[in-house]
Amino acid sequence: MKFQYKMKFRTISRVLQGSNRSPSIQLHSYRVLAHLHSAPKRPSFGIAFDIDGVILRGRSPIGDSPKALRRLYDDSGSLKIPYLFLTNGGGIPESRRAAELSQLLGVHIDPIQVVQGHSPFKNLLARLENELVVATGKGEPAVVMSEYGFKKAISLDEYASYFNSIDPLSPYKTWTTKQPSNEQRNPSDSVPSFDVTSERVKAAFVVSDPVDWGRDIQVLCDILRSGGLPGEKSEHQPHMYFAADDLEYQAVFPSERLGMGAFRIALESIFNSIHHTPLKYTSFGKPNPFVFKNAESVLMQLKSLTSDADLNGDYKDMKSHHFETLYMIGDNPSVDIKGARKAGHPWFSILTRTGVFRGKENHTDYPAHQVVDTVEEAVEFMLQREGIA
Ligand SMILES: [Mg+2]
Repeated sequence: MKFQYKMKFRTISRVLQGSNRSPSIQLHSYRVLAHLHSAPKRPSFGIAFDIDGVILRGRSPIGDSPKALRRLYDDSGSLKIPYLFLTNGGGIPESRRAAELSQLLGVHIDPIQVVQGHSPFKNLLARLENELVVATGKGEPAVVMSEYGFKKAISLDEYASYFNSIDPLSPYKTWTTKQPSNEQRNPSDSVPSFDVTSERVKAAFVVSDPVDWGRDIQVLCDILRSGGLPGEKSEHQPHMYFAADDLEYQAVFPSERLGMGAFRIALESIFNSIHHTPLKYTSFGKPNPFVFKNAESVLMQLKSLTSDADLNGDYKDMKSHHFETLYMIGDNPSVDIKGARKAGHPWFSILTRTGVFRGKENHTDYPAHQVVDTVEEAVEFMLQREGIA
């Protein structure tokens, strides 16, 4: 017993010493590993769950989604099956979203299990770490960017406040006075250490669904047309990034709501009508196949940490083991199912009837491999198919 414990401890140390892993991942991995080391066998499949319309509607679990997730853990609460949440939503850092989901769903969810629409933005750090970037959307867009390591990230709310009368309609927006500040900052943090009125914005990010479309479209057009400094003139359009491109999504209201894709269409259409060259932009989020590739590598990380072999063998060797099947469970055919189908092998798509899709048969344009009523049914189906139910 004592010897075994020592072996495990040594392997954990070796995993943590891996040279190409960031400190935050190492820390999270340690916690996941602590939860996973007792898994009886290495699963050859992984799961990506959409959140809105599958697991939650607003902040309420749909059906008994917590019970469905509990089946992926053993009796002691350790994770048995590598799974993550793959959502186009966001607006708060992954660590906070993981804590919130853990609380709402009653299972331990590690931050590395949360992949949000804006998670790929951290890959742009090498180019934009020390540049002025503007971030918009509900929640705390600038905090999200700062946590990724962007040193000069400012929310569009705050950015706009430095330009007098940039939004001529703001005096009529009486509701803004009743809202809490979008970014929870200390008063001493409210003045950035850089001059936003003379420095050019190098990139604009739509991190989550914009709150004030009119103001955001106005200010983004100002930034994009002026080469990053409203009121100036320049031909060079700063980079424009969107965390996702969903036209509609299922929220609490009975029918679908306009998503970030709808905002993109509005911005693009207006920008292209007032500017001589069309808007150049990049959208992340499902159904972009890149997102599924990224999810696969995160699941691989989770899997390599679940396996028994990892505790006795070489960590590097584990990277060569591929998944036989990766399941995508979603409610939106044109986002979740289209994306999984475009990503191809080993993705297997499961469409639930709990959100955007309510059809009796399969979806016509983007048929899933399997259609089920609820996420409980989806989990039952997967476990049966994998022979472990
Ligand atoms: Mg959804």
